[in-house]
Amino acid sequence: MTLDHVTIWENCLQTIKKNINTQSFKTWFEPIKPIKLEGSVLTIQVPNNFFYEWLEENYVGLLKKTIRQELGQSAKLEYQIFVEDHTKPSVSSSVSGRKFYSPQQIANPFVIPGIKKLKVDPQLNHKYQFDNFIEGDCNKLARSAGKAIAKNPGGTAFNPLVIYGDVGLGKTHLAHAIGNEVYSKFPKKNTVYVSTERFTNQIIEAIKKNSVNELVNFYQSIDVLIVDDIQFLSGKIKTQEIFFNIFNQLHQLGKQIILTSDRPPKSLEGIQDRLISRFKWGLSADLQSPDLETRMAIVSAKLDKEKVNLPDQIVEFISYNVKDNVRELEGVLVSLIAQASLNDKVIDLHLAKSVVENFVSGVSKEITIDNIKQLVSDHLKVPVEKIQGKTRKREVVMARQLSMYLAKHHTNSSLKAIGDNFGGRDHSTVIYSCKTVEDLIDTDPLLKDALNELERKVKMSLTGIKT
Ligand code: ADP
Ligand code: MG
Repeated sequence: MTLDHVTIWENCLQTIKKNINTQSFKTWFEPIKPIKLEGSVLTIQVPNNFFYEWLEENYVGLLKKTIRQELGQSAKLEYQIFVEDHTKPSVSSSVSGRKFYSPQQIANPFVIPGIKKLKVDPQLNHKYQFDNFIEGDCNKLARSAGKAIAKNPGGTAFNPLVIYGDVGLGKTHLAHAIGNEVYSKFPKKNTVYVSTERFTNQIIEAIKKNSVNELVNFYQSIDVLIVDDIQFLSGKIKTQEIFFNIFNQLHQLGKQIILTSDRPPKSLEGIQDRLISRFKWGLSADLQSPDLETRMAIVSAKLDKEKVNLPDQIVEFISYNVKDNVRELEGVLVSLIAQASLNDKVIDLHLAKSVVENFVSGVSKEITIDNIKQLVSDHLKVPVEKIQGKTRKREVVMARQLSMYLAKHHTNSSLKAIGDNFGGRDHSTVIYSCKTVEDLIDTDPLLKDALNELERKVKMSLTGIKT
């Protein structure tokens, strides 16, 4: 008996489902429709180009394996992209609203042919929305400016909007979020996202084909143009010249321009002054590293999305230790979830620590006595020199005794080694300090609070402090 395309695809889905998380399955596989089966070629319909590219980029291995399993080694998958013209339904139905492309043809698909009014594919990533871009002090200005633009593209003072900041802080996410919101609010406006790299390649290609004018005309007809990572314009004179013309025309017509860069416009190198001065016409808004609360909110949001539940302590642990980069934060989560599910382990602090250690460089595996002294020093505002010195002042003595206590309980150091580390004291002093702390826990609430907080920090800390 030969199976039909629906059954084959249904079987594929069963396998795929077992290999990826529920959310990804829902997002990327549920919307796919099986269309036909001819020999060993299965055709599936995906909602848009982006979908196709995403599948090819992220799931090609899994797809290949799965469909070979169903249809044998010669199995092939073909995509059909569903095209809908939002602006002119009548036109779109007259060309049946659907277009067939082979994957090769889709490689450079800004304009969807076959529809009379050129409808531009915005090249937006639907994953990146305002809803899942967590707000914090680190991104408030850029986010609000983006929101304002999305309400009124081209009509605010933020033109161009330059979003800048270090890698992994959300520039691309925010740029797409603005684009997506414009696209849904103003479907008639042509919105386009393009990376500087792709833009440069288009220009090189156009020069080869003698079609630079068409490319410029195309870009000059866009209503909302988003160009990501403009630092890569550096040194590319011809590209800069063409971009300059496009920019001028769009700006003059009151069209919206959104740019991202890894540094503020004034620090861009290898880019003509006349361009840089234009970048400064609107608003430059930076993205900074998120603070602890924002990192925790980001972690929680990602976990919700993945439908994974983690104890607060672990959320805090991860957020505490992965500081500089949201992409790294996500990497830790993905890796943690994967390790837990692949090895059938529970996600506990131990597993979280081992994953974080692999991600964050400069982190020592074991907490050291020096780390502890530093933590105590920061917490009680007593300099490290005093902690290991001779002062008998009450707060210094408390800091010293707490440090010794923590060193005994949280490192593998011998009493002698601990004593040596505190200005050459002998082991009986260490024993006495630990005993004092233990005696005071019940009677001295101040000490008890300090100890609790420090123990928490020691546990949270991997420590990120380089000694
Ligand atoms: P950049 O372009 O600045 O290098 P990205 O936009 O690619 O950074 O962001 C890296 C990852 O971090 C993306 O997956 C993005 O969704 C996520 N991210 C960054 N900032 C936030 C935020 N404020 N809230 C939620 N996710 C964020
Ligand atoms: Mg980026």
